[in-house]
Amino acid sequence: MKTFVFCLVAVTVLALSASAQSSEQSRPPIIDVHVHAYTKDERWTQKVPNPRTGQPLTATTEQAHMQATFAEMKKYNIAKAVVSNDYQTVLRWKAASPHQIIASYGFDDPSSLDLEFLRKEHAAGRLMSFGEIGAQYAGIAPNDPKMEPFWKLAEELDIPVGLHTGLAPPNTPYACCPKFRTSLGNPALLEEVLIRHPKLRVYLMHAGWPYLQEIRAIMHMYPQVYADLGAIDWLRPREEFHEHLRALVLSGLGKRLMFGSDQMVWPEGIGMAIEGIESASFLTEEQKRDIFYNNAVTFFRLDKK
Ligand SMILES: [Zn+2]
Repeated sequence: MKTFVFCLVAVTVLALSASAQSSEQSRPPIIDVHVHAYTKDERWTQKVPNPRTGQPLTATTEQAHMQATFAEMKKYNIAKAVVSNDYQTVLRWKAASPHQIIASYGFDDPSSLDLEFLRKEHAAGRLMSFGEIGAQYAGIAPNDPKMEPFWKLAEELDIPVGLHTGLAPPNTPYACCPKFRTSLGNPALLEEVLIRHPKLRVYLMHAGWPYLQEIRAIMHMYPQVYADLGAIDWLRPREEFHEHLRALVLSGLGKRLMFGSDQMVWPEGIGMAIEGIESASFLTEEQKRDIFYNNAVTFFRLDKK
């Protein structure tokens, strides 16, 4: 839920106790495919508290937010993170931690895109992923003709794409984004795109929640499509999230679900999201490792080590 970021808790590296350090080293590595970086954000100005815990938001600058997110990533042994919008901020995060950050280019309205710039960034080896694509926030469906030049480019350059699907915080159309519609987050709207661009490497952010039957249909029919569990793994009621996750696993999609936090302006959301997966008692340890790590290695074609 990209556009709605609020941010919290500046946990500093210094604040980590010796015992926390040893427990983090014993944790197996995690890949977080849904992390946000910001240059500035309204939620910083408004000090919007963590929507789950009510805890105050404390990291309210680009630097503080980055450092607090890095500290959380260190605590949970996050080996790689796909970080998106704003792109120039993303590049600064990448410079601060080159081996950890996968730079991703996000946008809402495709008419803002400079395709030549994207080609150059890709050719320079900087741009490795597209996302978060928040076209839904701009009132644009995945299969809208305005999206076509972008899909074509992503397929041609063989770059993974993270597409926002599902919903957003309540009142979104009354607040930031008057063109936002719930119906535009339906994963079924991707079908014609997948027909036209069979080599597209796309993952459905927020696992299409609450469009369960539609995401099952799309992921069943198009085995190249993956999904992330961002935001729903810590912002939705735990039982409801587990029901959605369990249904996807029952459909045999466990090898294509990836861990994402979507921490937004609350870095501690990363730990809360990890807990959301770890507490899923219906998953085997192997299934959890797939979600936390193995599936993202496959989708992003990373070196397993
Ligand atoms: Zn989103």
